[in-house]
Amino acid sequence: RIVDAGADSDDERVVEAALRPKRLSEFPGQTRVRDQLSLVLEAARRRGSVPDHILLSGPPGLGKTTLALIVAAELERPIRITSGPAIQHAGDLAAVLSSLDEGEVLFLDEIHRMSRSAEEMLYLAMEDFRVDVIVGKGPGATAIPLELPPFTVVGATTRSGLLPAPLRDRFGFTGHLDYYDASDLTTILRRSAGLLGVDADESGISEIAGRSRGTPRIANRLLRRVRDWAQVHGSGHVDLEAAHQALRLFDVDDAGLDRLDRAVLDALCRRFGGGPVGLSTLAIAVGEESDTVETVAEPYLVREGFMVRTPRGRAAAPKAWAHLGLTPPRDLAT
Ligand code: ADP
Repeated sequence: RIVDAGADSDDERVVEAALRPKRLSEFPGQTRVRDQLSLVLEAARRRGSVPDHILLSGPPGLGKTTLALIVAAELERPIRITSGPAIQHAGDLAAVLSSLDEGEVLFLDEIHRMSRSAEEMLYLAMEDFRVDVIVGKGPGATAIPLELPPFTVVGATTRSGLLPAPLRDRFGFTGHLDYYDASDLTTILRRSAGLLGVDADESGISEIAGRSRGTPRIANRLLRRVRDWAQVHGSGHVDLEAAHQALRLFDVDDAGLDRLDRAVLDALCRRFGGGPVGLSTLAIAVGEESDTVETVAEPYLVREGFMVRTPRGRAAAPKAWAHLGLTPPRDLAT
């Protein structure tokens, strides 16, 4: 492969960091979550105490990490960043917790992927600002309580349903991030174009906004690809023509669906007669992990009315058949 995926994603992380809004007032969209968060932070500030623990849920790329960084910036406190998969043992978590400073923000990304033992330690730490460090093994093992300074956990998850209730209950505030509408994405893209020094007109920006699956990360990524196209084949100017050509090249269709979205709909309609079909069978048919199909493709397809979830599995909606140019079986069409 000419482009190494690892290096590419490192580059992407650098660009993403540059494009993140730094303050709540600069964060377009998600007005409800933003207003709620602003209240929680302001109240804590006036009380002179740390805010309640905050849980952010929603599909990837909608701004959970960005908001966690903003929480720390608004509180003017440092932030420690780690993730569920990095915490496989309670000891890993104990090491992080015991080194936190007072008022520090602990960002736990993919919190639903933490080990059970770490989860239990986290409940106690969130509730009582205490961890029990186990010394020794077997019958002689003793738990030594360690007091922690007050801190705020900001947890992020794409699957809030997977969080055990006791952990979910420890969060005083949960913000659900939803897909962005085209006008918010337009604002985000204008801002990104400015920061990246990309010369873009309104028609180009609004075309990209309408085909970004409601997701800022995708919008920013498409903007960079359209800029590439404009620099190589066009005048360097991001306009409607450049947007059309680049989006075609990168397999983004008129509805903003990408290759995985279309593969899922295609499998549902052509291989499974419209379904219903179980998630794991569907995932195998498109050669992806169930988790990817469920957290990345499905929420958008369901929200846009291409797919429905039924108790017996996933099914294609009439819009999916129409989008693929197929005729649904007669019992579905009636
Ligand atoms: P998540 O943690 O939910 O996967 P991130 O916070 O990492 O998403 O956001 C991904 C990218 O999208 C970042 O580069 C960020 O700058 C951008 N982004 C997300 N939300 C917004 C927003 N409301 N305004 C501007 N950019 C955003």
